[in-house]
Amino acid sequence: MVPVATETRVVTPTPKPPVTAPATEVSTDSYAPAGKQAPLERGDTPPVAPPGVDPLAWVRLFEDTPEFQALNPGVQQAVHEKLTDPEVEESGKDVIADAVLTPGFALLSTEEADEFLEYAGNTIPVFGQRVRSTLGAQLAADEYQQAGLSLLPFSRAVAQRQQLLDFSRGDGAVPGTPPLAELPPRVREVHVSAAEDLGEYEFETGKVDAQRYTLDVDGREIEVITPADHPEFTPTPEDLEQLFETLPSPIAEQYDRVVIEPNASDASASTDGDGQIRIFPDSNRTLTGLQPVLVHEGAHNLSEALGETSSIGVDEDLSRLSPGWQRWAAAVEADGHPITQHAASSVAGDNDDHERKFGEDFAETVLMYYRVKGTAAEAELARLYPNRYDLVRQVLGDA
Ligand SMILES: [Zn+2]
Repeated sequence: MVPVATETRVVTPTPKPPVTAPATEVSTDSYAPAGKQAPLERGDTPPVAPPGVDPLAWVRLFEDTPEFQALNPGVQQAVHEKLTDPEVEESGKDVIADAVLTPGFALLSTEEADEFLEYAGNTIPVFGQRVRSTLGAQLAADEYQQAGLSLLPFSRAVAQRQQLLDFSRGDGAVPGTPPLAELPPRVREVHVSAAEDLGEYEFETGKVDAQRYTLDVDGREIEVITPADHPEFTPTPEDLEQLFETLPSPIAEQYDRVVIEPNASDASASTDGDGQIRIFPDSNRTLTGLQPVLVHEGAHNLSEALGETSSIGVDEDLSRLSPGWQRWAAAVEADGHPITQHAASSVAGDNDDHERKFGEDFAETVLMYYRVKGTAAEAELARLYPNRYDLVRQVLGDA
């Protein structure tokens, strides 16, 4: 038996700070099997938390409301934890509080309320903010603001309940690849060799005099081919040295060769999944933007461990995937939540090739995994994405 909400009053204890708009996600695909190229992701700007109000003052007022008092003690505790979690931005707490006061929330079972709070209150960098921004927009919609004349309050509460459930199962939320504020800590020392002249070299974007140097990464040599006249907006040897110093070992191991192209292309970088990455001049590029690209592309190489066939046509059966990729597809299905917008649209086949590309979901998951590994958010990733989390750790040798 679920409690029936008898009123739809929404208590607003404090002036609300503005909800931070979600950062716009730029196209993240950069994996181009068999010579195709696609544009790369670029780091987007993390939402900035508004100036803090004293969290405890309004939380106390909020917890005095009849709506909150009517919740079961376990749910009250879970709400309290989210509203006092320093990792949840203030505007996001406000959104959670608004959701908790809705008649729809009162109709959730304890388990459903926990599921909702876990999703809406997650502190995975950027992802959590985006989830709460999406929720804020949903709560601003008409059905939460005014009773429709044709709807009885109870049926409205039932509809809200369903919306909250759909929401906490990933419907409508648009998580993204967390951008980096700074490069991750150095995990190794990388040495760059002196450059040697190669003479004229045929790059993909032109034939120019080239040089070759190597990066010594954990005792392996990674070859770098670059125009002798260093193109503007491409990484220097020192940049690459810094980047490879921060790459997780299973990712760094994937690289054999970096080609710096002399001229711009549609893509910012591309890979054929063969241990080689091409980097094109790009005036928007930053080192912190390139690091996740290297992780994402390296993850594509790594994912060959799951088998050859990672994509199928939108009308094809999942059984056409390699067995390892069938396991991945099952994990995506079981977890429910999309890992990023790019991963979700790739898995849905929402692309020019009309192909369901599970490799993108894997690469985005690896990127997210390394972003939270060793932080408090790792446990949240494990709870929200239990199947992908287990499988990714197996493939990376962390399980
Ligand atoms: Zn990709």
